[in-house]
Amino acid sequence: MSEFIALMGQYPIMFISISFIFAATIGSFLNVVIHRMPVMMKREWQAECNQYLQEYHQDIVKDVGIKRLEKPIDNFPTRYNLVIPNSCCPKCNAAIKPWHNLPILGWCLLKGKCANCNESISARYPIIELVTGIMIATLAWHFGPSSQFLFASLLTFVLIALTGIDLDEMLLPDQLTMPLLWLGILVNLQGLFTSPTDAIIGAIAGYMSLWSVFWLFKLATGKEGMGYGDFKLLAVFGAWLGWQMLPLIILLSSLVGAIVGIGLIVSKKLNQGNPIPFGPYIAMAGWIALICGHDIINWYLGTLL
Ligand SMILES: [Zn+2]
Repeated sequence: MSEFIALMGQYPIMFISISFIFAATIGSFLNVVIHRMPVMMKREWQAECNQYLQEYHQDIVKDVGIKRLEKPIDNFPTRYNLVIPNSCCPKCNAAIKPWHNLPILGWCLLKGKCANCNESISARYPIIELVTGIMIATLAWHFGPSSQFLFASLLTFVLIALTGIDLDEMLLPDQLTMPLLWLGILVNLQGLFTSPTDAIIGAIAGYMSLWSVFWLFKLATGKEGMGYGDFKLLAVFGAWLGWQMLPLIILLSSLVGAIVGIGLIVSKKLNQGNPIPFGPYIAMAGWIALICGHDIINWYLGTLL
């Protein structure tokens, strides 16, 4: 293993290429996570609601009938998780052949259409695979073969899944944010990205800062501008990168959010007042801070002095 790492250190181009291919493959799994996790979560919520009704509202259960309550709210198979069933065409249910499952290339081979029924397959799948590949290749270039690269990659994979789910469903599942938060504190016990003290303060400050903004905004306008998932995601970056990075992340995410938001309003794809998910901007800003946060802060402080 150490020989392999030494070899990769000698040939950075090879290391970056291998990282890209490996990451694009993980990207195809992330597509599955983005698509299936919300369905699985909604089924869990339904089950919880049913249990509540059966325990406390027998009258409603009697009226509606237990069969109708337990009927899945979606059209997917009964057994449905991240592994089962195999990927298939959402329209004709034809199984996807192994070579068509190749990241990026598979979609190109199929020219974006199902081989069986010609239904078009969203370009989003190869795009997510490509973006995953490029982001991990960037980490490989920046960190080299190191434990920092390994953990930064893990963080990036989960961030991509979170971004996709938030864009689709306006949700940042606790099942993804909370493990990231604990992992951030854990890796920094060894001072991988920042000191343990800065990591713990970062986690608390990350959560509290957006939480305060949320309540100030709500008291002032009566509206809810973000969700609790957003606070947790900022806490994640506080834990991974230390509290010092939080102002930069908030600034960058607001900047990108404002630009995209204004763009959407101008192009009339979004009505003013409609909620836009904030998670993707925090994720993007946090990822930029992971790579060049220190450089940006040093540059900024340098221009002040
Ligand atoms: Zn099909």
